[in-house]
Amino acid sequence: MTATLTPPDLAALTADLMTRVAALCEHTEVPGTIQRTFLSPAAAAMHADLSAWATTLGLDVRVDEAGNWRAALPAAQPDAPTFLIGSHLDTVPDGGRYDGLLGVTMGVALAGALRAAGAILPYRLEVLGFTEEEGVRFGVPFIGSLSTLGQAADLLDLTDAAGVSVRQAMRDFGLDDARLPNAALTGEHLGFLEFHIEQGPVLEAAGQPLGVVSALVGHHRAKVTFTGRANHAGTTPMHLRHDALTAAAEWMLEAERTAQDTPGLVATVGRVQAFPGASNVIPGRAELTLDLRHADDTLRARKLADLHAALERIGAARGVQVSLDVLTVIPAVPLDDALRAALHRAAHAAGLDAPELVSGAGHDAMIVARAMPAAMLFLRTPGGLSHHPDETVSGQDVQAALQVAWHFLLNLPRRGA
Ligand SMILES: [Zn+2]
Repeated sequence: MTATLTPPDLAALTADLMTRVAALCEHTEVPGTIQRTFLSPAAAAMHADLSAWATTLGLDVRVDEAGNWRAALPAAQPDAPTFLIGSHLDTVPDGGRYDGLLGVTMGVALAGALRAAGAILPYRLEVLGFTEEEGVRFGVPFIGSLSTLGQAADLLDLTDAAGVSVRQAMRDFGLDDARLPNAALTGEHLGFLEFHIEQGPVLEAAGQPLGVVSALVGHHRAKVTFTGRANHAGTTPMHLRHDALTAAAEWMLEAERTAQDTPGLVATVGRVQAFPGASNVIPGRAELTLDLRHADDTLRARKLADLHAALERIGAARGVQVSLDVLTVIPAVPLDDALRAALHRAAHAAGLDAPELVSGAGHDAMIVARAMPAAMLFLRTPGGLSHHPDETVSGQDVQAALQVAWHFLLNLPRRGA
């Protein structure tokens, strides 16, 4: 191994990276804001700039058949396995600079620094800039990472708001949709690492620049319906009412209490509708959504059952019919033990704690984890603010992450170790 290699000037590497991120964000579909959706002209311009940069660093660049941008640092041995660093290049409308793009540019900077240092790696290092993660254009997320697993073929006929299919958008971008299967990863892969801003307040509250992600939470989404009796708001005394909305309110507070009392559980009612929806009519029906997330699937299912029982109890006490319909269940994705341990060792070598935390959001890592060991390193997000133009990250934290990653990449666990 080459662990004694002279490390790069991390401060200079970081300063260059931050300047490049700012310049890359000039490519946008909506001037004055940051917006790069899947297969947009802004995405193509971003690819061109990334390729120019990576080429000067001596990396092999290409855009794959799904529109993912890739840059590779070859291994000394042609038959060596590959290790991947990746994140996404698309954004939400009016998004931030660092969500996704930071992880890709960190990968490029690291690969370039390893090459400049003359590192002889026992693996090929490939940086992946996934073309689509947010699901903005076609309503389905992770098209980029799913393509690298050969799992996107059934998404080609999705259409965007303008009626353009994925297939047609690919052709307009200069891609051949018939060759989409060629975007799938081939050969042996040691694993995948994604750097990403936390997009939440946990690391900042803990006073920690970096965190190792233990798992991406799973979630249940449900529709909850309360059916009482609509009646006149003036003539119906309180004790003779069957108010669907006050029953819903009581249950919402129960859901909040349950989550507050359960470490790691988050429960959100994001939408409430009351019918008929007039100021002088007692609501006869109320419908709400429940979003319940935790990294332990068994515990989450048990808490959902508790909330269902509370729902029945509240409905019975108030003479209101209730129902809870689970719409989607997405299992949690635990990240790889060996890669997490390697990240902790690298953090300790850099004099950092890097505590473990769960990711409440979805990321490409949870898709890639289907095919290989995967890990994520979170960077502190000031104010916990993301998907917002004021989203930021400190250069010092980026430098710390590069230092940890440098050690990690030079001491990557061997196969089966
Ligand atoms: Zn992201």
